[in-house]
Amino acid sequence: MTVRELVVLGTASQAPTRTRNHNGYLLRWDGEGLLFDPGEGTQRQMLLAGVPSSAVTRICLTHFHGDHCLGVPGVVQRMSLDRVTHPVVAHFPASGREYFGRLRAASVFHDVLDLREEPLTADGPVAAGLSWTLEARRLDHLVESFGYRLVEPDGRRMLPEELARAGVSGPDVGRLQREGSLDVGGRTVRLDEVSAPRPGQRVAFVMDTRLCDAVSALADGADLLVIESTFLEEDAALARDYGHLTARQAATVAAECGVRRLVLTHFSQRYPDASRFADEAAAVFAGDLVVAADLGTVAVPRRA
Ligand SMILES: [Zn+2]
Repeated sequence: MTVRELVVLGTASQAPTRTRNHNGYLLRWDGEGLLFDPGEGTQRQMLLAGVPSSAVTRICLTHFHGDHCLGVPGVVQRMSLDRVTHPVVAHFPASGREYFGRLRAASVFHDVLDLREEPLTADGPVAAGLSWTLEARRLDHLVESFGYRLVEPDGRRMLPEELARAGVSGPDVGRLQREGSLDVGGRTVRLDEVSAPRPGQRVAFVMDTRLCDAVSALADGADLLVIESTFLEEDAALARDYGHLTARQAATVAAECGVRRLVLTHFSQRYPDASRFADEAAAVFAGDLVVAADLGTVAVPRRA
């Protein structure tokens, strides 16, 4: 069984509250664990969420404001303490290399972690695995900020009844998938006769930004969109001045981009009642809406 889900470690922008830790999100994707924007307290939130440090294979920072990166020292030192043996890759805006270096070496510890820095310098693909490509795009915030999305290539789903009818079984199924066609008793069986298109899944992660083309490009066709909605529309002027989105703006992008499941997060401490974000977003987005809560999990929706 493959697991594709978001573990929400924190939902607060700027300052934590009694119910919201600083940001932090672990995307579990098959065997990968992408830790996005670990703010202060992320190590303990992982403990409370039942996420071992060994689950993290990649650290992705959008930018270097503290609510998005002050958890790096604790997480990195914990991974070293736990003797995590696999390499961990870190992505972050290259303009913040100095900050990352400080966070990486914030205090003295016995450092045995194989942490590899791969800073972002431009839009485009940054890494790829068996079932995904990770892409980044520059957003529009007060400091350089990148959004991410994970894209699974389109594939094909085998149809057992059609395989049986064509007389294809056992290792021949794999051969047919690899080679595109197969000779079965003198007849050629083509892959498209016994399979159906299976669109790849997409998860987008959009943190601190004003509305810009990159937000839409990242959100386009996302099965799951995790997006900041720091403010409500009543404070749209603040959102503009400080380089953020309102719930209504985030939900409008989601509606325009055909997002299936929308996750709002990164809330300002001025709003203790998160249900107001849901009300504002639901007025413009008819899809599946989640107002993120600390320590909750959100599944990547099953394929349509
Ligand atoms: Zn922030």
